[in-house]
Amino acid sequence: MKSKPKFATKAIKSVENHFEGSEPVSTPIYLSSTYKRKNDGSYTNDFVYSRGDNPNRSIVENSIAQLENAKYAFAFSSGMAAISAVLQSLKAGDHIILPDDIYYAIKKLMEQVFKRWDLTYTLVDMRNIKTVENALKPATSLIWIESPSNPQLKISDIKAISNLAHKNNALCCVDNTWATPVFQNPLELGADIVMHSSTKYFGGHSDVVGGAIVLNNENLAETIKSIQLLNGAVPSPFDCWLIARGIQTLHLRITKQAENAYNLAKYLENHPKIEKVLYPGLESHPQHLLAKEQQKNGYGAMLSVLVKGNLEESFKVSTKLEYFTSATSLGGVESLVEHRKSVEGPDSKTPDNLLRISVGIEHIEDLIADWKQALNNE
Ligand SMILES: *Cc1c(COP(=O)(O)O)cnc(C)c1O
Repeated sequence: MKSKPKFATKAIKSVENHFEGSEPVSTPIYLSSTYKRKNDGSYTNDFVYSRGDNPNRSIVENSIAQLENAKYAFAFSSGMAAISAVLQSLKAGDHIILPDDIYYAIKKLMEQVFKRWDLTYTLVDMRNIKTVENALKPATSLIWIESPSNPQLKISDIKAISNLAHKNNALCCVDNTWATPVFQNPLELGADIVMHSSTKYFGGHSDVVGGAIVLNNENLAETIKSIQLLNGAVPSPFDCWLIARGIQTLHLRITKQAENAYNLAKYLENHPKIEKVLYPGLESHPQHLLAKEQQKNGYGAMLSVLVKGNLEESFKVSTKLEYFTSATSLGGVESLVEHRKSVEGPDSKTPDNLLRISVGIEHIEDLIADWKQALNNE
């Protein structure tokens, strides 16, 4: 070019990336929405347009696939977007079997969105395989498992339910958000699809919303990939960067959190003001042995307690806690508590006196002391 660029042109060209080929140890955040095309028409690393793929998303997807020992992972802008992608891979008229205490927004999604697309569902208590079998219809194309379930920590037999699904030409999808791939790999137990809310333990610091679908089947992977691209419910490169950063400490965090959860569950189980503790790591949990078998390395860091008393009294206990912030969500390094029924609304089947606890990485003695003062100070 012969002429010198004018100011407006300089302002654009002077900030172009000149550092290609340098090798930062920590992945930069590639905010670019578009990628340069080479003279032969091809693209470096096949990055064309950020909705389709970008370096930060590619790293997260690759990582999550490896953590679940799977071939494919697809990242979404939220757990709900990931769930929607699975549901959109079905066809109008299909029937789905869902657990009766499924993550409550999924029931709303079925009622408020997918009902119009003629997807029907049956809610069953998945602890009993016979109940699942009885709910099967010729149109059943998907059985959805959440284990441990939210908020009652029910355990479903992933191997048995996957077998049942396959005998009936249906797929089995497991929401593995609570167990994390540190403790449970559903694909190895026979499931076809794993879903994650990366908002929770993957992110781990309550500062990002995201989701993922993980699977091995190539045809299904093509379908999910096209839904991801065309629906466009994709996480931003910054979201992906935060999730990748979180994944680096996932194992350390969840191991400590699960240890704290077990010790807190043990303490609360013996407290006279607690009616019941729901935690699969306790021998008193009715499905402790099944949890031990399929969650090979641990029981997770979520528990629920039934406080002796009514809705108001149990809500009050949650407000007296000082180290457990009263907030929804879970999986961060900080401990949270939530009176679940008042969040889910009047048609919720969650017991009035249930408090859901997400245990963090604080010192266990402080966490126990906090519950002690909250329960004794009424
Ligand atoms: C949070 C959560 C979801 C939904 O994920 P979002 O990231 O909030 O969209 C689904 N399933 C379980 C078990 C969850 O905890």
